[in-house]
Amino acid sequence: MKRGRPLRAELEPQVIQSIHQSELPFENGLIQNSESISLSDAKEYDSLILLRWRNRQCVECGESFDITSQGFLYKCGVCIG
Ligand SMILES: [Zn+2]
Repeated sequence: MKRGRPLRAELEPQVIQSIHQSELPFENGLIQNSESISLSDAKEYDSLILLRWRNRQCVECGESFDITSQGFLYKCGVCIG
């Protein structure tokens, strides 16, 4: 019987460690941060987990957005057109 690969297996050990060190809740492959993080702050924090933040600040307009509902990378749904 074939089984799907668990999401966690796709993460590298260093990434898992970085996420663990953030001490923030981690669900569905994303860090459940309540306050949005900007691209520069995310880079400064830990570039390994750059694309693991759920709430991000758009690099174009500065608005906060939830990557699970809109947007791409660090651009919100409005700015990606
Ligand atoms: Zn935007």
